[in-house]
Amino acid sequence: MTIADNINQIRETLKDYPKANLIAVSKTVENERITQAIKAGCKIFGENKVQEAQDKWTVLKSQYPDVKLHLIGHLQSNKAAEAIEIFDVIQTLGSEKLAEIFVKEIEKKKKHPEFFVQINIGEEIQKSGVNPRDAKVFIRKMIDEYKLNVTGIMAIPPVNEDPALYFALMRKIQIENNLKNLSIGMSSDYQTALEFGATHIRVGTAIFGERQLVISN
Ligand SMILES: *Cc1c(COP(=O)(O)O)cnc(C)c1O
Repeated sequence: MTIADNINQIRETLKDYPKANLIAVSKTVENERITQAIKAGCKIFGENKVQEAQDKWTVLKSQYPDVKLHLIGHLQSNKAAEAIEIFDVIQTLGSEKLAEIFVKEIEKKKKHPEFFVQINIGEEIQKSGVNPRDAKVFIRKMIDEYKLNVTGIMAIPPVNEDPALYFALMRKIQIENNLKNLSIGMSSDYQTALEFGATHIRVGTAIFGERQLVISN
């Protein structure tokens, strides 16, 4: 199966879910293979590191200006300024500290990225994101006080558990807060995520194959 075959197969499933968008997760994938995905029609990509996104996408974005880039990984506050330069959507807004920096940088750079609030849906200590119980207050604050363009929520459910319960909870939070977008579902569970109303599925392995282990400093 080529990258294009993989994408076409996922697209077949997406035909039944007209509101759903495919995000091709291209972390660790080199530009040559990303270009194959773009040529197969992918318009949205996800990266989890700012530095890697800059290295790869500064060129790719100039070649393919229609392509949108989403940040799906944890963001350190000292990278926030660079993040809004390269990303169109930041899916990992999860602290007031970050929000404060974003407000300043948006003003300075005249960039207007979209934000999804990351929810720590399984309440796992090792994961970032807002606790589901605090979601409502946090989201209101981001929109009303910080005036950030928050349009959705995202989550990564706990591994080795049935994701359905977590997806249902995410759907509930989306509806309660009247948000347009719901970013749930990865290679192993995007079919389930679509049934729970995902508007964005984040698929890496099922498009590009297994990632090689990358040792980062
Ligand atoms: C890597 C990653 C994905 C894609 O995972 P696959 O299992 O390869 O589809 C999705 N979401 C986030 C946040 C990721 O870091």
